[in-house]
Amino acid sequence: MLDWLIVGGGIHGTHLSHVLTAQAGVQRHRIRVLDPWQEPLARWHACTQNTGMGYLRSSLVHHLALHPFDLKHFAEREDGTGHPFAHPYKRPSRALFADHCRHVIATHGLRDLRLQGRASGLQACAGGDGYVVETSDGALRTRRVLLALGTSEQPCWPDWATRLRNETAPIQHIFEPSFERTAWPLEGHTLIVGGGISAAQIAMALYRAGADQLTLLRRHAARVHQLDSDPGWMGPKYQTAFQKIADWDARRAAVDKARHRGAVPPRLHRRLMRIGQRDRLTIQTGELARMEYAANGHFVGCLARNGDPITADRILLATGFARVRPGGAWLARAIHTLGLACASCGYPIVDASLQWHPGLFVTGPLAELEIGPVAGNIVGARQAAGRIAAAA
Ligand SMILES: Cc1cc2nc3c(=O)[nH]c(=O)nc-3n(C[C@H](O)[C@H](O)[C@H](O)COP(=O)(O)OP(=O)(O)OC[C@H]3O[C@@H](n4cnc5c(N)ncnc54)[C@H](O)[C@@H]3O)c2cc1C
Repeated sequence: MLDWLIVGGGIHGTHLSHVLTAQAGVQRHRIRVLDPWQEPLARWHACTQNTGMGYLRSSLVHHLALHPFDLKHFAEREDGTGHPFAHPYKRPSRALFADHCRHVIATHGLRDLRLQGRASGLQACAGGDGYVVETSDGALRTRRVLLALGTSEQPCWPDWATRLRNETAPIQHIFEPSFERTAWPLEGHTLIVGGGISAAQIAMALYRAGADQLTLLRRHAARVHQLDSDPGWMGPKYQTAFQKIADWDARRAAVDKARHRGAVPPRLHRRLMRIGQRDRLTIQTGELARMEYAANGHFVGCLARNGDPITADRILLATGFARVRPGGAWLARAIHTLGLACASCGYPIVDASLQWHPGLFVTGPLAELEIGPVAGNIVGARQAAGRIAAAA
């Protein structure tokens, strides 16, 4: 029997495996990280690379390693570009951050802790000592489980887009595993749908790559914010009061209100506006009233507000991730069987150590009602690690 099974090997699961083994005294042969991908952080690398982002949104102290300045020292030793960090907040370049992740994983042997597979069920062990996690490769018994599921498996597909995809129209989401930006055709007319940072980044990336014609369609006027929530949410300024809210619906409302959904950082917004005044990129704002894939192999639609036509040869969705509890059907079954407490929004009600049930812990979006709006970010992983390691 394992001591710990971490389900999900993204930024959160990998950081937690490092903290538990290097700091909390968990023996390496007693912990495993279950993840469907061959490589650690596979979804992080694919999603961030596909947007074409140059720099992270978060600062240099948010990373996989234990010491807050580990990434800074790594950059002083290893960065060859001369531009490892961007203003404001000293944000690391995507390439530097990726190299540092690989360095931390290799130095601390974190790859050896991984098991390739997918959890499909969670039950209490007979006798009540620990859990049985059903996986694609059989059952695993463990004293403790940490759910680090993330949202990367649930790209948001609007209904009209799902319908068109079912009709085999050429439409993709930038966060679906089969998407590769460098393989996206540059000839013809691409409609990019989305109003946030990833839509802006991929529009810029395809523009720079020489795309013939791009339209960026967003539902709302640009929301310009540097971060996806006020920086006060990363610490006691807002977290202390938030954690005192006794009513879970009020916590949910506070999280939703704090989040700058679909926001674009100021510098990226300015660049996009500059390019958007040139010939190959058009920015349109409005709700789609209709979109069809015509027999001649072109998309034809129109905007609700004024009926303006929207046409394209292919569509690329940059509509972020669906706002639903990660884990889907198997976690819903576990919630039912184990009687796990959930707020009316469906998210876990956990204690201060992020424990949902004796020996069952959560991090990432599943910890949102305790950590707040930054729960899914890298800083959320670091905060979760502090709490869970203390409990371990
Ligand atoms: C393009 C982009 C840029 C971002 N930039 C920043 C940034 O600059 N700073 C910041 O703080 N945050 C950023 N974020 C937000 C956040 O930090 C990332 O989304 C991060 O990858 C979240 O890590 P995670 O481990 O929670 O989730 P994920 O990366 O989703 O990893 C979860 C893993 O769990 C696996 N999994 C799911 N279900 C199961 C199952 N049943 N069994 C086994 N494994 C399972 C998944 O396949 C996946 O590998 C960004 C997000 C995106 C998409």
